[in-house]
Amino acid sequence: MTESATIQKELDVYAIRQQFPILGREVKGKPLVYFDNAATSQKPQSVIDALLNYYTSFNANIHRGIHTLAEEATAAFEQTRDAVKEFIHAGSREEIIFTRGTTESINLVAYTWGRQNIKEGDEVIISCMEHHSNIVPWQMLCEEKKATVKAIPINDNGEIIFEEFEKLLSQKTKFISIVHASNSLGTINPVKKIIETAHKKGIVVLVDGAQSTVHLDINVQEMDCDFFAFSSHKLYGPTGVGVLYGKKKLLEAMPPFQGGGEMIKQVTFEKTTYADLPYKFEAGTPNIADTIALKTALDFINETGKDKIRRHENELLKYATAQLEQIPGLKIIGKAKEKVSVVSFVVDNVHPQDMGILLDNRGIAVRTGHHCTQPLMDRFCIPGTVRASFAMYNTKEEIDELVKGVQRAVKMLS
Ligand code: PMP
Repeated sequence: MTESATIQKELDVYAIRQQFPILGREVKGKPLVYFDNAATSQKPQSVIDALLNYYTSFNANIHRGIHTLAEEATAAFEQTRDAVKEFIHAGSREEIIFTRGTTESINLVAYTWGRQNIKEGDEVIISCMEHHSNIVPWQMLCEEKKATVKAIPINDNGEIIFEEFEKLLSQKTKFISIVHASNSLGTINPVKKIIETAHKKGIVVLVDGAQSTVHLDINVQEMDCDFFAFSSHKLYGPTGVGVLYGKKKLLEAMPPFQGGGEMIKQVTFEKTTYADLPYKFEAGTPNIADTIALKTALDFINETGKDKIRRHENELLKYATAQLEQIPGLKIIGKAKEKVSVVSFVVDNVHPQDMGILLDNRGIAVRTGHHCTQPLMDRFCIPGTVRASFAMYNTKEEIDELVKGVQRAVKMLS
C-alpha cells in the first residue's frame, strides 16, 4: 500500500465530512470547497449542538450562583479549563486564562507584563512574519515606554535567519513575541530553540499559537514558553473565545488587565484586593456558551487523533504544492522545510483579488490579500497572495478543483 493510501485509510475523511453540516452546501451552484481554514475553521455538529444545549438546558451566569443552573454552567465552563490544560500540557489549571481570542491574549500581556516591565530604551523582538496582532500591541507599548520593536529577518524560503536573531539579542532585549506557525506562509518556527536562547539571557518569550494549535502537538512545559496564545475558532470551536497560557510565577506578579466583577476578592472604596489566578484576569461575565463548546471541539480533535490529522494535512500540503507548482507563472510564497498546511501563491500578471473572485464563482473559498501581515508582504515585494489552507475535512479531489480553477483563472486573466 502506498504511503498516501495508508494515510487515507487511517483517517476516514468522508466520515469526518459528514460531521460538518456546512460542507454539504453549495456556493454559486457548485459544491463548497472550503480552503480558508487559517482564517477560521468550520464547526462540527457536536460543537453546534453544545451551543444549543447550553442555551436550551442550563444557561446561567457562572461562579456566583448557588442555584442548579448556575452550578451546572460553572462546572461545564471550568471543565473547558481542564480540557485546555490537558490539550496544551500546562502544569496547572490556574495558568489557563480565557480571553476573546489570540489578539486579546497578546494585548493582555502587553498591557500588564509589558507596562510593568518594559522601560525606556528596552527592546522587544518580534519577527518579519508576524500577524498584525503580534506587531501593533508591541508598537503601542513601545511608543508609550520609549522602547523599540525589532524584527528578526527571514530568508527567501520564509524561514527565520537564526544567526540574525542571535545578533539582535542584547542587554536591552526584554521580551520576544514570536509566531509558532505563520498564517501567511505556513512556516513552523523553531520556537524551542528561540526560547532556549532567550532564557539563557533572562528574556521572557510569548508564542503566538493561533495557527499551530490546531495542527501541532502543543506542550507548553516542554516548549518552556512563558506565554502561549491561541483562538478557539481556528480549532473547530466557536468564535469569541481564546486562551492565554502563562507561567504561574509570571501571572502572579502581573497586575490585572481589566477591572470589574469576578476578578476581585474584596472591594471597598479605600482598597480592592484581587482574585487568585486565573480569575484575576477574567473580569466580567465571560463568553460562557462558546467556552463550554470549546471543550467539545477539543474532544472532537482528540477523538479523531492529532497525529492522524497531521499526516493527512501534510499529505494535502504536499499534493497541493506539487500540483500548483506545475502551473506556468505560479510562484509559491513560503517554502520552508517545516510547514503547516498553508499554501500561499502569486501568479504572474494576475491580481490575487481577481483570482479569489473567479475561484469563488466555482464555489472555492480561498483568502486573498495581505493576511494581516503587511510587513511580510513588503519583505517579498508583493501586495498579497492567494492562500489555500487545509483542515482535516479537506480532500485531494478538492485540491484538483482548486488547481483547475486556478488554471482557468490564469487563462482568463493573463
Ligand atoms: N496570530 C496569527 C498567526 C493569526 O493567524 C491570527 C488570526 N488570523 C491571529 C494572531 C489573531 O487571531 P484572532 O483574530 O483570533 O484574535
